[in-house]
Amino acid sequence: MLRNIPKVDKVLEWPGIKTFMEKHPRQIVITAVRDTLGKVRSDLLAGMATEGILEQEVLVERVRNTLEKMNMPGLRRVINGTGVVLHTNLGRAPLAEVLRDTMLDAAFGYSTLEFNVETGSRGSRAVHVEKLLCSLTGAESAVVVNNNAAAVMLALSSLARDREVIVSRGELVEIGGSFRIPEVMEQSGAILRGVGATNRTHPRDYRSAISEETALLLKVHTSNFAVVGFTTEVSTEELVAIGQESSLPVMVDAGSGTLVDLSSHGLTGERTVRQYLDAGADLVTFSGDKLLGGPQAGIIVGKRSCLEAMKKHPLLRALRVDKVTLATLEGTLRLYRDDQQALQQIPSLRMMTLPAEELAARARKIVRRMRRALPAGISLKTRKGFSQVGGGTFPLLELPTTLIEVSVDGFSTQQLEQKLRTRIVPIIGRISQDAYLLDPRTLADKDIPDTIAALLSLATS
Ligand SMILES: *Cc1c(COP(=O)(O)O)cnc(C)c1O
Repeated sequence: MLRNIPKVDKVLEWPGIKTFMEKHPRQIVITAVRDTLGKVRSDLLAGMATEGILEQEVLVERVRNTLEKMNMPGLRRVINGTGVVLHTNLGRAPLAEVLRDTMLDAAFGYSTLEFNVETGSRGSRAVHVEKLLCSLTGAESAVVVNNNAAAVMLALSSLARDREVIVSRGELVEIGGSFRIPEVMEQSGAILRGVGATNRTHPRDYRSAISEETALLLKVHTSNFAVVGFTTEVSTEELVAIGQESSLPVMVDAGSGTLVDLSSHGLTGERTVRQYLDAGADLVTFSGDKLLGGPQAGIIVGKRSCLEAMKKHPLLRALRVDKVTLATLEGTLRLYRDDQQALQQIPSLRMMTLPAEELAARARKIVRRMRRALPAGISLKTRKGFSQVGGGTFPLLELPTTLIEVSVDGFSTQQLEQKLRTRIVPIIGRISQDAYLLDPRTLADKDIPDTIAALLSLATS
């Protein structure tokens, strides 16, 4: 059979293959044919010869599949059925729908990015968001960079290069990926001075570490973990008082950095950026795509005197954000001029604050709609469960939800998960105690028809 595998040149003459060349560049079709024949060869060698493996029609179909895969973007839409709202692996915060035109205009046309229309001369790309950030947080000044890791790095580099930064050992956080506070500090040129113990740090620990070498007192929000039991930490207010005794600035890396108080929605214990500044922090850094619900960005707000140097720092040029980010960040911040508007229009905030009853009704509605469209071999049930905020925020918080449990005759839970995950529009659910679960909290309305189509194709395959 190996000898009967057709040659590439011959396959390229087949009418079925020739029609592919109307839609795809010749070189791509040749690559697809070559890859497909290679795969056929390895299938045969592995003893996996399926019926008609060398037939023209079957081979053309396989080339079509190969072409489809080759043309599929690597970075593409997925359906998030995990219930994790700020899913770091799935792109954290989805942007508000109302920003669609803003984003497209910025990306596909010219803009006022660095042009002052009043004076007709060169403007600054920072002004578009700075005023909004100041009015929303009460800060005197603001700087925007690519992400919060960059914000921390820029701040430390401009305020504490070759000098000491005092931070509690209980706050030497690894955020995920490979972002660790101590390592970012090292890269910024600041010298880390850890004080206290993992579970307990006292005001006296900071006081006794302060010296001529000290440039800054840093507080890092322990976003993604909690230390419970025999613990003490120094509050922002206490740290500010200690800083004032020695005329040292205090910086808070707030991590997720929310602009609205979410405690009335059960999301308690997170201070707003304004509250940190009101407590006296000189600088606060936070992410654009965590609780804020905007594009990936890092935001530094605080005292003008601290931010002046950052605005002139050469690193800022390397860390600056592009026009699409600025446009969508400005649009997101505008929504915060009214808290209710922000809660309704920013998808991550809306999903996080969905009441349990609404989720239960939504789960039932989705199940009814799916049952109408799907054959008997697919069984759907609802059950109580929990969702998470994600993005390294509210690590202990379990948000009550109603989950949709899906099973398909002839597929194990693992097979079902794998089949749904490897589609052109992947569906990402979760498995718990051998059940495949989708959480309506993170499913968008437009995801439902796609999910139905995916299940239907399994049932009829
Ligand atoms: C998430 C986080 C960061 C990193 O923010 P990115 O925007 O992902 O770079 C830094 N510090 C804290 C405390 C965080 O929670």
